[in-house]
Amino acid sequence: MTIYCLGSINIDHVYQVPEFPAPGETLTCKAYAFGIGGKGANQSVAAARAGARVVHIGAYGAGGEWARDVLADAGVDCAHVAMVDAPTGHAVITVDAGGENIIVLAPGANRAIGAAQVEAALGAAGPGDWFLTQNETNLCVEAAQMAKAKGLQVCYSAAPFEAEAVRAMLPLSDLIVVNEGEYAQCRAAMPEFDAEMQGRALIVTLGAKGARYIGPQGDVTVPARKVTPVDTTGAGDTFLGYALAELDAGAAPEAALALASGAAAIQVTRQGAIEAIPLRAEVAAS
Ligand code: ATP
Repeated sequence: MTIYCLGSINIDHVYQVPEFPAPGETLTCKAYAFGIGGKGANQSVAAARAGARVVHIGAYGAGGEWARDVLADAGVDCAHVAMVDAPTGHAVITVDAGGENIIVLAPGANRAIGAAQVEAALGAAGPGDWFLTQNETNLCVEAAQMAKAKGLQVCYSAAPFEAEAVRAMLPLSDLIVVNEGEYAQCRAAMPEFDAEMQGRALIVTLGAKGARYIGPQGDVTVPARKVTPVDTTGAGDTFLGYALAELDAGAAPEAALALASGAAAIQVTRQGAIEAIPLRAEVAAS
């Protein structure tokens, strides 16, 4: 089956710092690198590397073709990734000595995706397929409605957290994936969040503590592997892409979370986002 991912494509500018700068402080970084990121692109690549068929729906600006090509080279179908009249989305990522990150996003082209583009991308989609989205593009709700009407299951990565987006997406979602902080934000913004999740599935990633699935197939907690992280950027996206690909392939939640945990554990031991996402064979061998 196919995962249709409406998601961001960003150019990540990554700055290594000894510690995060305080307000008003100027800090010289120890190292700089750039690469492709964006929650959507990360999740598409992770699902493709896990073995799923993935169609990415997204946009880039003039000069951003190389970003699309990185996805295509990773095995993601990019026929519905379009060039639009806006700058390619980009992110400024600061990583401290402990591997923790702080991120500022400029959405650009990611918020200029056309409705006709989404409609065309979902043209061949149907029951058994998944629609996946996050909070980094326009048209999330409209596209999820379109996907539901066509019988797809909807997976919603409620990040970066936006209360209004969660309120609109929750009734359309079959599976919601959040980290611990986003889960707390969902519950604080929507006291009815847990009640509304009845009958739906929730995956909460817990960083070095692992991840939990709560849903129609039970309540399962899977520990994280013991590793020394160097950069956790994209850990959650790697986890989600792998877990969804495995659920899509018919695996039980415990097996899906275990595979995702193995993939994310490798990913956090490497620098970068997309380039750090392991191949399935590497996860299997770990
Ligand atoms: P990020 O925003 O940094 O991309 P996140 O906050 O969305 O990540 P986390 O809950 O921090 O997501 O991590 C996702 C998964 O990655 C965890 O469930 C775990 O499997 C793995 N992971 C994260 N940190 C570690 C770690 N220190 N050691 C081992 N595995 C980790």
